[in-house]
Formats: sequence, structure tokens, C-alpha cells
Amino acid sequence: MLNKLTIKDVDIRNKRVFIRVDFNVPLNSELNITDDTRIRSALPTINYAIDEGAKLILASHLGRPKGKRNPALTLATVVKRLRRLLNKDVMFLDDCIGPEVEKVVNSMGSGDVVLLENLRFYAGEEANEDGFAKQLATLADVYVNDAFGTAHRSHASITGITRYVRPAVAGFLVKKEMEYIEGVMANPVRPFVALLGGAKVSGKLGMIKNLEQKVDKVIIGGGMAFTFLKAMGYEVGNSLVEPEMMNIALQIHKLALEKGIKFYLPVDCVVAPGMDPGSETMIVPTQEIPKDWKALDIGPASVKLFTEAIANARTILWNGPMGVFEIDAFSRGTFAVAHAVAESYALTIVGGGDTSNAVDKAGESENMSFISTGGGAVLNLLEGRPLDGIMVLDNRKVKE
Ligand code: AMP
Repeated sequence: MLNKLTIKDVDIRNKRVFIRVDFNVPLNSELNITDDTRIRSALPTINYAIDEGAKLILASHLGRPKGKRNPALTLATVVKRLRRLLNKDVMFLDDCIGPEVEKVVNSMGSGDVVLLENLRFYAGEEANEDGFAKQLATLADVYVNDAFGTAHRSHASITGITRYVRPAVAGFLVKKEMEYIEGVMANPVRPFVALLGGAKVSGKLGMIKNLEQKVDKVIIGGGMAFTFLKAMGYEVGNSLVEPEMMNIALQIHKLALEKGIKFYLPVDCVVAPGMDPGSETMIVPTQEIPKDWKALDIGPASVKLFTEAIANARTILWNGPMGVFEIDAFSRGTFAVAHAVAESYALTIVGGGDTSNAVDKAGESENMSFISTGGGAVLNLLEGRPLDGIMVLDNRKVKE
């Protein structure tokens, strides 16, 4: 269980409850929301606070405005969807600090909800400026962090504000995410399989090393597989390789063998001369990647191998696509693996924005045990590192 207090542990009736949410939703070029999962994920906390008669002040960032107002990244886009999902009026304020905001907040009634403008329109948010944090804090009697996707960032609305507001507690999304991921890492039902993919070894090194201490099998697909294969002496053509990671890849492989961990790499792949959608493709064994070609997906034999390897798993943790799934011609491996994970009898945990996107595209979102809303935050937890934004919350007292 999470060793932090949650919104359920504190009195919020008639209090100004500042809820840091993660409404950083993807937008298309016409500024339409293409996936509102992050808004939906915060609803249990928001609805609970409304039912308990709190005054809700919701705050989030959206995109990377880098400290400047940017009309394309206004949270006014989000408030419309939020109103519809809550079936309730939500007042939108076109700023997140200052006397006007304070005036509105101080005149709120029980059950009212306001959404503040994008926190990152101020450079003080990401810089964790004390003055900015203090101004946010003037809006709050209680602080709630329900922004799991940003909980690893030491920003003003995540850590700075807690210097000035107590109680500071977790929302239901943060509680659920933390308990799922930490629970699995601490006490996995075995066999525990890590299915890892994505572009590079370097971005995921900490995770691989930490997982290697805990899992029974490691399966590597995606671009990162080719650094391993190249290091083992295979010809990988123009596939993505990080030369400076080759030695580390060999060490990871050696350690896995020494520890008795089963280690799987692709045995075949989909290759193409380039990455453009219309380019010619071939399926070849990994031993036969042509010199000037790139491997952009795992092939059908690898899908079979990986499917067999996860067949007896009781816990599967999946982070990173098996290929360039954004392009149709290189998406089959990732989708086939998504089906295999979904059909397994394991507890299945999907972490990382790209992976959950791929699972969604494969139509398997409903069939996973748990899909995390956080990318970087999950990576931190899988690396075994605590999250700054969680550490600063009030501890749950352990009963004697
Ligand atoms: P990451 O953010 O590290 O999880 O990487 C995700 C990205 O890796 C996706 O955008 C994929 O297109 C990309 N990717 C997966 N497999 C390959 C590959 N074989 N070559 C190049 N990029 C890949």
C-alpha cells in the first residue's frame, strides 16, 4: 500500500483543494484532443472531491510553451471536454496566479470547480521558482497530486508548492499507479517477463539494469535489439545502433546468462532500404540483414518466439514498441505482440506513452490489466528511483 496520505484521509469539505492533474493530452493540428485518457483518469479524484463538498482548483500543464503564453496550448481546449465528462459547469480562468485568480477562488462555493490556465505559461513552473510556488499556494488549503505522468518532475506545482501547503496528499490515480507498479516490482507473481522495445538502449539503460535484478525473462525488440545484435557480431546493415552502448549491451546479456535469466532477441525482422511508408520491404532472418537496409520491425518468427516465451508468464511488464509501429508496414510485430500479451493469463502492465498508444491501436487496451498514464514517471519507477513529487507528500503514519 502507498505509504502516503490520500485525499480520502483528509477533511476537504468547504476547503480550497488544489488538485495538480495531468491534462497534457495529445492534440492534432486542428487542436482537437485525440485521446482524452488523461482527463478521464483524473475523474475519480475530481468527482470524489465534488461529492465531498470541496472547492476544486484544477491545475495542469499542456505541451511545452517554455514559459510564454501560447494560444495553441491553452487549457481552454481541455475545459470543454472536462465539462462534458463531468456533466457540470467548470469555470476556466485565463491565468493560474495573480489577484484576479485569487478573487475568483476566494469566492467559490462548495462543489464548484475551476480550471486554471496552463502552468507552463510561466517559466517559474519548470524552474520550480519559489515565488511562483508561493503564489500557487495562496490558492490552496489542501494540496492533492493526481498528476502521475508528471510526478517525477521537481516543478513548482509538483514539489515547490508543498513547502507552503499542508496537508499535501495523493489523488486516486497516483495511488493506483504507484501501488500497481511498486507492487509488481516488489512482489511479482512468477514467471515475471519484461518485454522491452523502443528506439534506444541509452534511454532505457537504468530500467534494463534494474529489471534484470527482478525478472525471469527479458525479451528485447524494437530498435534497441540491433545494438545488442551488432555487439554480438551480427551484420545489422543500417539499422539503429548506438556504438557507445555496445559494450554495455554485452554486459547486460552476460549478466542475464550468469543469473539464469532467459534472454530473447529477434530471430527475424522486416527490413527496408528506408523508413518511408512506401518503401520496398522484405522479411529476413537476423543473420541475413542486407548491408544497406534497415531493420524496422520484428518478423513473424520472432513474434512466434516471443509469444511462446510469454505463454507461461504470470506477470508481463511491457515497455516500448517492437518496431516503427507508427508506419503501417512496420507495425505488425508490435500489434501481434500486443495480441499475445492480451491473450496471456498473466497480470499485464503496459508502461510508456508509445506502448499504450500501440496497444490502443491494436484494439487491446481493454484486455490489459493495467495501462499506466505516465511515460517518464514509469521509467523512473522501473529504474528503482523514487518520484520527487511523491516523496514530498504527507506520510501515512504506521500504526503501532
Ligand atoms: P521509445 O520512446 O524509446 O520507447 O521509442 C519509441 C520509438 O521507437 C517509436 O517511435 C518507434 O518508431 C521507434 N522504433 C521502434 N523500433 C524501431 C526500429 N527498429 N528502428 C527505429 N526506430 C524504432
